[in-house]
Amino acid sequence: MSVSLFDLTGRKAVVTGASRGIGREIALALAQAGADVAITARDLAALADTEDAIRALGRKAVPVELDVTDVALCRTAIAEAVAGLGGVDILVNNAGIEQICPSLDVEEELWDRILDTNLKGAFFCAQAAARLMDGRAGAIINLCSLTSEVGVPTAVPYGSSKSGLLGMTRALAAEWAPLGIRVNAIAPGYFRTAMTDVFYENEGWQGAMLGKIPMQRFGDLKDLRGAAVFLASDASGYITGHCLPVDGGFLASI
Ligand code: NDP
Repeated sequence: MSVSLFDLTGRKAVVTGASRGIGREIALALAQAGADVAITARDLAALADTEDAIRALGRKAVPVELDVTDVALCRTAIAEAVAGLGGVDILVNNAGIEQICPSLDVEEELWDRILDTNLKGAFFCAQAAARLMDGRAGAIINLCSLTSEVGVPTAVPYGSSKSGLLGMTRALAAEWAPLGIRVNAIAPGYFRTAMTDVFYENEGWQGAMLGKIPMQRFGDLKDLRGAAVFLASDASGYITGHCLPVDGGFLASI
């Protein structure tokens, strides 16, 4: 097999929520594989570090302000990103939030905030990017979750959004295959980031979770690089509608 299957030289990628954590790591992985990358977050200043790191890899970086809960902004910001890149081949729908809450206490505001960010925002960014892929062979990657596949107590809005995102991945894959656009997902297992830090502060939680992960360690952000480059590149050219767990064997063992 040729390594060039994974080469993204000349490709143009947009990664939402690239100011930190998984989005930042995936943006750098795509740049390292050769892509120019537009990066988004709600605050432009928060993108400076990712922008510098992409440029240090010799690739073009296009920072764009975007709150994905605003549909009109999804359209204008994706258009701005694509104009800055000179086209778009890859979209990574990474922007996301989580807040645990017993379901008996969930209010409409929390439900809407999580669903609007994780599901509605992802759809309208995908739609905006797909409209601009314009006959190019496109790849869209959605950041799903173990909660796309299993029920997690006190994470019902989040799990609903991520299950919906998996359904959206499959439906868009079926609908957009004739357009040459592949739509896949990554389901990260347990990765310590700003979003999840609060859990890791609890040693009891850490021990319980490690007991459920066959590889007996939490994910390192670098563990996500290969999956992202694979799904963005020609190496996965006949794969669409698939969700790839990167979870140390968690889903395989339950
Ligand atoms: P972080 O909190 O570290 O990063 C989240 C990113 O999303 C930030 O860049 C943030 O940017 C952006 N973001 C949040 N809300 C919005 C919004 N309304 N509009 C635009 N951007 C927004 O989280 P992670 O890196 O951990 O998570 C990234 C993705 O991976 C999420 O979709 C998450 O659900 C998923 N995931 C993470 C797992 C983990 O273990 N960490 C496990 C499974 C899935 P800013 O605040 O600067 O605007």
